Amino acid sequence: MHFNTKAIHAGVHPDPETGAIMTPIYQTSTYVQKKPGDHKGYEYSRTHNPTRTQLENSLAALENGSYGLAFASGMAAIDTALKLIKPGQKVVANNDLYGGTYRLFTKVFAPYNIQFQFIDMSNANEVDKFIDKDTAMVWMETPTNPLIKIVDIAHVTSLAKKHGAISVVDNTFASPYLQNPLNLGADIVMHSVTKYIAGHSDVVMGALITNSKEFEEQLRFYQNSSGAVPGPMDSFLTLRGIKTLAVRMQRHAENGKEVAYFLNNHTRVKKVHWPGLESHQNHHIAAKQMKDFGGMISFELENSSVSQAHEIISNTKIFTLAESLGGVESLVGHPASMTHASIPKEERIKAGLSDSLIRLSVGIEHKDDLISDLKQAIG
Ligand SMILES: *Cc1c(COP(=O)(O)O)cnc(C)c1O
Repeated sequence: MHFNTKAIHAGVHPDPETGAIMTPIYQTSTYVQKKPGDHKGYEYSRTHNPTRTQLENSLAALENGSYGLAFASGMAAIDTALKLIKPGQKVVANNDLYGGTYRLFTKVFAPYNIQFQFIDMSNANEVDKFIDKDTAMVWMETPTNPLIKIVDIAHVTSLAKKHGAISVVDNTFASPYLQNPLNLGADIVMHSVTKYIAGHSDVVMGALITNSKEFEEQLRFYQNSSGAVPGPMDSFLTLRGIKTLAVRMQRHAENGKEVAYFLNNHTRVKKVHWPGLESHQNHHIAAKQMKDFGGMISFELENSSVSQAHEIISNTKIFTLAESLGGVESLVGHPASMTHASIPKEERIKAGLSDSLIRLSVGIEHKDDLISDLKQAIG
């Protein structure tokens, strides 16, 4: 089945009771049992809820996976995946990483004696050097946040497999429309569903998807034991958002291209980070593993300072200044003082994240309005 069709039909079915075509919001915490244990597969909504079940099946289908698990946030999904790792083991991750992920790894899991090594995974030599027999998990984001670097998923996952390490891809920036890491050898795919999948900036949610029965069983156990599950209303909103995922992503990518080319030709812009540009370090890998290049762009100005960056992001009218990404509306942000403020400055600079970097989440408005907005803001 093609992605556009899956987004509308896969994993969901009309309500058997009433024929309702849209999945009902089963706003219930518990379920009647005729005798102890005599029930219809649902006992308590932390464990299972019918609205969530359909969402989990839909998420699995979007990533060509066998099993989907939904969580109350992207961070809750990451927290659950990390529970596969035991004290004394080592995790290798990108150095250009979502700030909240870096915080969870270094402030929550490191004190449990889990070791983290942050490397430039867009560089194959670094990958070959640091992923070894002591690696228990490889955590990769691609495209990365906020430098939009590209990691060669097939290469890294095959190296992880060779050393017996679990490979996990945070696929939030690409969405399942642009790339499917399970097909490229990943063991587990993670999403901040909050972003492109839900797509309307009205839900916070996370997901893990896998083809492995063994991982599914462990992750399901942690999901139920720790209990960071989404409620039925949010599950419904996400199911609704998924229906338009394909058409939204098409437009995000079209608009992304327009904006990236505009910025690339602008005299005040020093560098544009967008994998569709041939000047991008790993353009050829992006072209190989992604269907299109998406709507996430970052750029730096010539001779720019923090204050100039702040001025531009306050001047935009359609690009709204806010954290987050992947919604229908265009957003602008300043990673160094917003999403990535929890990463120490010296770590940020080492990773190439300059204080003047501006990040755009290009929405699905008309491209001409987006370009004029940037024109008047940058000058
Ligand atoms: C937002 C985000 C997360 C965290 O997800 P939440 O839904 O905010 O908890 C993780 N990874 C990436 C790449 C993100 O953009």
